[in-house]
Amino acid sequence: MYLSKGYNSRKQAGFRCELCGISANDRALEVDHIIPHNLRGPDTIDNYQALCYKCNANKRDTDSTSFRDWKVLYETRKPDCIFCNPEESRMLAVTELAYVLKDAFPVTDGHVLIVPKRHVDTLFELFAPEMNSCVRLLKEFKSHIEIQDPTVQGFNVGVNVSEVAGQTVPHCHFHLIPRRLGDVPNPKGGIRSIISGKGDYTE
Ligand code: AMP
Ligand code: ZN
Repeated sequence: MYLSKGYNSRKQAGFRCELCGISANDRALEVDHIIPHNLRGPDTIDNYQALCYKCNANKRDTDSTSFRDWKVLYETRKPDCIFCNPEESRMLAVTELAYVLKDAFPVTDGHVLIVPKRHVDTLFELFAPEMNSCVRLLKEFKSHIEIQDPTVQGFNVGVNVSEVAGQTVPHCHFHLIPRRLGDVPNPKGGIRSIISGKGDYTE
């Protein structure tokens, strides 16, 4: 079990240290919990990281107090927030730290939201295990959507950060928007079109 998680963590990291980027060929990688196990860090792949022995040793020196209140931190929920209290009928998948929600007003058919369970306003407050959970769900649903609907040939992945950038639900979420050939006359530029007329810079 541990061995397979260790291998999968190294593989997920592309066989490079997740902090300094050095290749496993040049410096041995050690797989460790991000939130330590003795502080009840989850025993899931999202809470594992592959670090070279130097970065892992530095982490041990500095991390002893930083996760003291992690359990409480991860449980932050807001009673009046729609993504802290999602409609179960719209939920498509749940992991330890995140879930997938069918968007109620889809931009295209199959549009889903990847939502960390903890209430944070924006992407920039996510902890590394939550980011891992969200990216894993993005990849899984990308494959799932492609298998379910062969007309899907591309995606837009987007995060609106704050009201000025268009965020309407102030609980962090990733949009995964399937795209099909011909769904708009000129798709060039994709998310650049958030500013009208700036999509296609080759024009
Ligand atoms: P944003 O504007 O980036 O904050 O995105 C909010 C997203 O949440 C939009 O795509 C909405 O369609 C979607 N949305 C709003 N209310 C709900 C709800 N109750 N259930 C699922 N999705 C919702
Ligand atoms: Zn919330």
